Amino acid sequence: MVYEPVAPSGPPGTVVRSLGLPDGGIEEKNVSDKSNLSEDRWQEILTPEQFDVLRRKGTERAFSGAYWDEGDHGTYRCAGCNEALFSSESKFDSGTGWPSFSEVVEGGRVRTEEDHTLGMRRVEVSCANCDGHLGHIFPDGPAPGGARYCINSVALVLDSDEGSSEGSGVEE
Ligand SMILES: [Zn+2]
Repeated sequence: MVYEPVAPSGPPGTVVRSLGLPDGGIEEKNVSDKSNLSEDRWQEILTPEQFDVLRRKGTERAFSGAYWDEGDHGTYRCAGCNEALFSSESKFDSGTGWPSFSEVVEGGRVRTEEDHTLGMRRVEVSCANCDGHLGHIFPDGPAPGGARYCINSVALVLDSDEGSSEGSGVEE
């Protein structure tokens, strides 16, 4: 499939950045406005796993994702639009097999909504920028806030702090 970075007939300013391509990682740090993309467009842009979670509110299998046990420092961004969502500072090991955070990163934008599917009362968390489904919030997180943001790895992209001058990132 040929990737076309520009929406076919959109007005100027609707350029869709190519996020997370395998070579070179994410260089574009600007959040792209994808709030008006069609589901067909999303299907082209996202991997099938990302599409299932972000656009179909699916849930990845526990312990199957890239970030549940991830220890690197950095900012976790939305896999759909690159919005900064969570920081490794608030990440903790919940034992659930999904990456878990106690709070949203400063300036991060998420939307919450009651979710009554699957016979449960849960609070859904979505990216406020692109409306992508991220996961759920549960009230059994660590003090003082007590929140546990249970997020699908596949909905996130880690923007690692490896460029900082700590000098401990080299492995032989
Ligand atoms: Zn997003």
